[in-house]
Amino acid sequence: KEFRNNVKPNWCPGCGDFSVQASIQRAAANVGLEPDQLAVISGIGCSGRISGYIQSYGFHSIHGRSLPIAQGVKMANRELTVLASGGDGDGFAIGMGHTVHAIRRNIDITYIVMDNQIYGLTKGQTSPRSAAGFKTKSTPSGSIEQAISPMEMALSVGATFVAQSFSSDLKDLTALIEAGIRHKGFSLINVFSPCVTYNKINTYDWFKENLTKLSTIEDYDPNNKEMAMQTLMKHDGLVTGLIYQNTEQPSYQELVSGYSEEPLAAANLELTQDDFDRLTAEFM
Ligand code: SF4
Repeated sequence: KEFRNNVKPNWCPGCGDFSVQASIQRAAANVGLEPDQLAVISGIGCSGRISGYIQSYGFHSIHGRSLPIAQGVKMANRELTVLASGGDGDGFAIGMGHTVHAIRRNIDITYIVMDNQIYGLTKGQTSPRSAAGFKTKSTPSGSIEQAISPMEMALSVGATFVAQSFSSDLKDLTALIEAGIRHKGFSLINVFSPCVTYNKINTYDWFKENLTKLSTIEDYDPNNKEMAMQTLMKHDGLVTGLIYQNTEQPSYQELVSGYSEEPLAAANLELTQDDFDRLTAEFM
């Protein structure tokens, strides 16, 4: 309840992003956070509005740049729980470089991607997650490019927490976000979040028919990276649950020399107006 504010989302009725918002709010409450202990940093897209719909610190940043800002926030104040969020176009097209390097850096933030396989805010163009042959205004004859496989990509660049969920599975999604927040390192959670207005292929019914829960696969072991990769390839990436977790690898913060000392946000820098003027002049 305490993570709700009085801003009414302007997503289309039925958009999957509503459930992602609710899951973040529940997960934050379940792990015992207070609103002033959480920062939600979003990119641009329909999903990017989410930072304004959660009672917490928030920053609605620019396209593909939620992760650099989220990492800066975490490094300046490690006492905050930092969530980054955005859509598949935001994170896997313009922001892909940041996604790859934040993953391999293993900085302790949780990145939630609302994956609807289309650009919704700009009224329905093919995204890097659209399947080959996908027809939109930008690819009227069908996309000739292959879709990115974000979970395999994350595993291949050294991710320590990789999970996938479906916005209809509120309970599972909430549990995964809680696990991502508790994970001491970078956690990537890709959420199939249908765009009911522009994507008439990857609908709620389509996901219900095509997704496999990892919990139904006998002996699935999320600590086994090889099994994770093989399972993703076998199911064409259409699995939900905790795909892989490595709790042994230290986070970026643990490896940075001196980081255990007082967070920058709490430091008394004792800057005078003259110091401030001199510093700003250096950047002019
Ligand atoms: Fe959601 Fe699609 Fe509407 Fe955007 S256009 S709010 S993604 S349903």
